Amino acid sequence: MNTSIQHIAVITSGGDAPGMNAAIRAVARTASYHGLKVSGYYRGYDGLMEGDSIGMSARSVKNTLAMGGTWLKSARSEAFRTVQGRVTAAKTLQSDGVDALVVIGGDGSFRGAQALSEEHGVPVIGIPGTIDNDLYGTDHSIGFDTAVNTVMHAVDKIRDTANSHNRFFLVEVMGRDSGFIALSAAIATGGMDAILPEVEYSIDELFETVRQGAKHKKTSNIVIVAEGSTIGNPAELAQALVAEFPELDVKVSTLGHMQRGGSPSHLDRILAGRLGVGAVDGLLDGKSQVMVGLQQGQLNYVPFEKACSQGKDLNLDLLRVADILSI
Ligand code: ADP
Repeated sequence: MNTSIQHIAVITSGGDAPGMNAAIRAVARTASYHGLKVSGYYRGYDGLMEGDSIGMSARSVKNTLAMGGTWLKSARSEAFRTVQGRVTAAKTLQSDGVDALVVIGGDGSFRGAQALSEEHGVPVIGIPGTIDNDLYGTDHSIGFDTAVNTVMHAVDKIRDTANSHNRFFLVEVMGRDSGFIALSAAIATGGMDAILPEVEYSIDELFETVRQGAKHKKTSNIVIVAEGSTIGNPAELAQALVAEFPELDVKVSTLGHMQRGGSPSHLDRILAGRLGVGAVDGLLDGKSQVMVGLQQGQLNYVPFEKACSQGKDLNLDLLRVADILSI
């Protein structure tokens, strides 16, 4: 056990995700469990540079487990991208007597944490918190499961109206450059197709999907479009569809930021709990510049470099399942 660590700080940074509060709580309680002091800094790296913090205890994080968003607030900080910004943040940590930092966020936040640690020797561990699920080294990131549930409930409702009017819906879901939400949502909602950034797809294939749907007398046609679609956004795809099939009643639905909100699912709460405990345990074990993740049920620590750059492949088996079930 690294006894030089007596005071741990935690921030939430970058895009918010449901379950971040559960992760803050887990970090605070694990620190208390080990008899350590724990502080939270507001608004990610901005708060770190400004010294805007709050002391936490096991009790002070009560009633936060089920809350969506992040009560510590999150931010994107341009200043922290600069060497001077990180000097300021390191000075805050030093003057506040903080020995180590836990960063809950996505790849950008981890790149920032890596730079801070390399330049100022601060031990840092990352907890993957992003609905996009695009980090290598963990099967799921915190927030992904809740976001897929949100999409699933929304698409179920869209199907009711699609069915009633024989409409064709293109539903855009979040995920930046990755199609994890789209693929999972397509399977969970019985979507007839999913347009994913990782999979080569053409407008002709979309036309063929429509023809197949008509052939099989489908009455509600829903195609899930990942926001990173490389063949056009849903509005452009709708235009192309109507040009090819003038009789088709095509509607576009962009689910938007609702996908980031809501009370975390049980899977996200448990994941946040395990990763929060793993982050503090890891720091006490001398680990740094790593992300704590869960792969096939096992806790593991992946270097930031790998987590951010390796790229995570879509599960091929899920792709096949989506294909088979959409006939
Ligand atoms: P996410 O963590 O969700 O991927 P961002 O990419 O916006 O979100 O990153 C969050 C913050 O992390 C940025 O606003 C910036 O302050 C910091 N950051 C991102 N990339 C770097 C980098 N290469 N060097 C230093 N700080 C970075």
